[in-house]
Amino acid sequence: MRVALLNPPSYADFDGGAGSRYQATREVTSFWYPTWLCYPAGMIEGSKVIDAPAEHLTLEETLGRLKGYDLVAIYTSAASFNKDVQTAGSIKAQNSKALVAVVGPHPSAVPEECLRASNHIDFVCRREFDYTIKEVAEGKGLKDVSGISYRKNGQIIHNPDRKPINDLDALPFVVETYKRDLNIHNYQIPYLKRPYVSIYTGRGCPAQCIFCLWPQTFTGNTYRVRSPQNVVEEVQLAVKYFPEANEIFFDDDTFTANRSRVHEICKGLKHLGITWSTTSRVTTDPETLKVMKDSGLRLLVVGYESGSQKILNNVKKGTTLEQAREFTKNCKKLGIQIHGAFILGLPEETKETIEESIRFAREMNPDTIQVSLASPYPGTKFYEMCQERGYLVEENLVMDRGYQNCCVRYPTLSHEEVFRAVERFYKKFYYRPGFIFKILKKILFDREERKRILREGKEFKAFLARRKGLVKGKKC
Ligand code: SF4
Repeated sequence: MRVALLNPPSYADFDGGAGSRYQATREVTSFWYPTWLCYPAGMIEGSKVIDAPAEHLTLEETLGRLKGYDLVAIYTSAASFNKDVQTAGSIKAQNSKALVAVVGPHPSAVPEECLRASNHIDFVCRREFDYTIKEVAEGKGLKDVSGISYRKNGQIIHNPDRKPINDLDALPFVVETYKRDLNIHNYQIPYLKRPYVSIYTGRGCPAQCIFCLWPQTFTGNTYRVRSPQNVVEEVQLAVKYFPEANEIFFDDDTFTANRSRVHEICKGLKHLGITWSTTSRVTTDPETLKVMKDSGLRLLVVGYESGSQKILNNVKKGTTLEQAREFTKNCKKLGIQIHGAFILGLPEETKETIEESIRFAREMNPDTIQVSLASPYPGTKFYEMCQERGYLVEENLVMDRGYQNCCVRYPTLSHEEVFRAVERFYKKFYYRPGFIFKILKKILFDREERKRILREGKEFKAFLARRKGLVKGKKC
């Protein structure tokens, strides 16, 4: 079979593909690599990854690229599913014999719903789909492939689950597929150096955060890891294939979850002389931070989530504000930059807890922040809680242009208030004299940074203005 692995076309600049943890059009244009699609692609000869949003392909252009393919695996999400169903229909209209599958966390959570939504979807891959797609591509009958749900004589059949992959070293290096099918210049994240190359060194996260999509629906709550040697080998290959890359990003759920392994990987990275960034919880100890810094670490993406301990407890974050303070102090001492992630609208949010979060963000003072709206994804405990307690006011996770929607309200806080608070949060954080001075210094003394800051600043202002329009138009 000729196999295409598709990040389907969607809203302009919609970052919802196979690598994006929450699917939405961002404040500043962002595209994660479609890493999940690159694993099966690396195992199937003649296959192709097509990343329509990152390449700005229209539906027609995407269909043109799909001519001659017998199996199309579409990476879909709760936010983009309705649009992706239409894409599935167009693929079938062009080639009625093509098999169309949907893959990703959303179909894993609600396989039956996905199949019932459209007859154009032939099967759903539940959870990790690397070997599932490979087996179908090799001609195995649907009835014999574990981890899929499909339709037979009008009935929906759920085959037994597929076991999580424990030997991650056996999987191909995704950088091979990046080189074959992608243009690394299409991928950008505002807080990462451009161009960057991103890989996973493990799958899953041992933490239990009730809002977090991937571990609950896709990768599981055990951190399965690749060997340090295997990781370092792939990094070496990335450096060889993409000498223009300015940064490697280890995009694991929580890279620092396995301390001794982090130390081992850092030993290998130290000799490569590269710059790299990754994710961390606030529980990472100072010695590990130092080891990481000494081997080229530039920046950590840190989920602070909230400045209210009560909210952190409500979502089972498993960390304290004190730990966050200590961790941030240690990072600053070592010169490690931080991109801090905050979420508004988590269970039992109030006006006061929002203000606590804003104050906490200013106190932590990371280099950059992102403020997201809590998204109750089907398949998460957060979604169940919202349904049970009547917090859910809206099922559509995104609205016009793919911007995040606020779908929850609480006894003392409306969804409009949560939505509006995002803008206030950003302004209170970024429009401070100290912060503006830091940015001005960069603009004056760093040519590359100047270009980036001015472009992103313009995009960010446009984003705030469009959001304001959406509030006025009562579309939230
Ligand atoms: S620590 Fe991060 S990746 Fe892990 S479950 Fe919590 S939010 Fe998700």
